[in-house]
This record gives sequence, C-alpha cells and structure tokens, in this order.
Amino acid sequence: MKVSLANALGTCFGVEDAITMAMTPEFGKNLTIVGQLVHNPQINESLKKNGVSLVNNIDAIDKIKTKKVMITAHGAAQKTKDKLEDAGFTVYDASCPLVMRVHKTIQSMVTKGYYPVVIGQHDHVEVKGIVGDLEDYLVISGESDITKIQRSGKRKLGIVSQTTLQVEKVEHLVKKIRDKSYVDDVYFVNTICQPTRDRQVAVRDLAEQVDIMIVIGGYNSSNTKKLVQVCEEKNILAFHIESYSQLKKDWFYNRAHVGITAGTSTPEHVINEVHEAILEIAKTTGSEPAVH
Ligand code: SF4
Repeated sequence: MKVSLANALGTCFGVEDAITMAMTPEFGKNLTIVGQLVHNPQINESLKKNGVSLVNNIDAIDKIKTKKVMITAHGAAQKTKDKLEDAGFTVYDASCPLVMRVHKTIQSMVTKGYYPVVIGQHDHVEVKGIVGDLEDYLVISGESDITKIQRSGKRKLGIVSQTTLQVEKVEHLVKKIRDKSYVDDVYFVNTICQPTRDRQVAVRDLAEQVDIMIVIGGYNSSNTKKLVQVCEEKNILAFHIESYSQLKKDWFYNRAHVGITAGTSTPEHVINEVHEAILEIAKTTGSEPAVH
C-alpha cells in the first residue's frame, strides 16, 4: 500500500504565529484566550497544560481572571477589542493579517456605498468578527440564503468571503447572486486565503491518485471540513479524524494508495503520528508500504 502526503497540508503561518504568541513564556499563567486559539483540540489542550486560560467568547468577560487577554487568529471586531481594553485588560492581538484584510476590504466597500455581504458560516467566530463593526449586513451561507438579498431591497452589493471556504462554492454563489434581476452591481473580492487555496489544490491533485484519503483536523475546523468536501466531490472515500488513535485498520484493506492531508490548524506532530500509524498499518495489510 502506497502512502502519500498532500503537497500542501497542516498549519498555516497565521496559526503558527498565534500559537507562538500564546506560548510566550512571559505570559505564564497570566493569559486568557478569548475563543479557541485554533480549531484544534491538541493545541488547546497543551495551552491549558501551560496554564493558559480559555473563555468561549467576549460574553464571558466576567469570567476572565487574568490581566492579559489574547485575540485569536480568527480575529475580532474592533468593538470587542475596545470592550476588553475599556474593562482594563491588556489585549494581545494574534488576528491573522489575512483575516484583517477581509475586515478592511468590507469596510472600504461600505465606504464606497456598497451593501456588505459576507459569504460564510453565520456562527463562525471569524464571520462574527468581520461583521461585528458593521451596522447592517447579510451573511450568506448557501444558495437558500440568496433570497435574503431580495428581501433586503439592496441592489449594490460588496461581497467578501470567509477565509477558509471552498473556492468553487464561493464563486458559484457569487455568480448566482450576479444573475439575479434584483441585483444591479456586485463588487466581489474573493478573500479566501492562500494557505486554504493551496491545501484545496493539493488535496484535489492527490485525490486523482489515491483510493482513500485521511483528512486530519479539528471537527470544528472549517477549512478541514472543506478538504473532506473536495474529496467527496471527487468521489474519493475520505475519513476525517483528529488523531491517529481514531484510525481503523479495516479502512485500509484492499487499498492500493492512501492520501493524507490536514487543515490549516493541524500541527505537524499530529500529522506525523497519523502518517507513522498508517505506515504501520500498511505493513500488516499485505504489501510493503511505498512512501512519498
Ligand atoms: S487559515 Fe488563512 S486566514 Fe486563517 S489563520 Fe491561516 S492563513 Fe490566516
């Protein structure tokens, strides 16, 4: 059984920078992270072990017991940062620059007179941050939401996307919106980030070669779920796991070629553990593993 890793996989620079900031020894036990630093259970567990406190969101501000708080790579509205500073906290901001680019893009669209529309998941922390400083906006998560635009009566739209969505799906949605007779003008900036695009292109390429794909990442990681969707669209059997301990031997029987990919919040050591475990399984499923 041959085992191949996708050409681009695992943590992006935004996540790595945020982890580095959170692990800075000077913070010690005096840091609270607002929200999950990244959507990865292993990283959040090791932060807790280091004494870092976590609260789910700004609504839990009363539960913060440290002087220093950190905004995650997913970003936050300026309103949220101000609220924390006004409450006397020192704010450390690990917002990814590519998320902040989305904030700036949509604000500049509003300044130019476009009605802001975000393609993304309503309840995702990144989307909440993007719309958090806007007075009026729409979040579109799928085709069934497009009718909201008609109901709003807005005809001149500025559209951005959550950074971790699937490129084709976003472009398809924008085309559907452009085609509506009740929409006059669409100013679209595709703000899906490059690391997300790279991982989608790499998994698509690998899916051409393998007969099963193992996708590693947190179950709540948006971009990891998109990698699974890409495999499903390619009719490749894909298993989404968070750790090597979830691998099952019978997935690999009679498989000639296994692919491995991982979302932008999956650390290297988690990928290595999965890779090594699959190589071990490959030894017991018949032929010798070929590694690339
Ligand atoms: S997935 Fe993209 S936007 Fe999110 S932290 Fe990584 S590089 Fe930044």
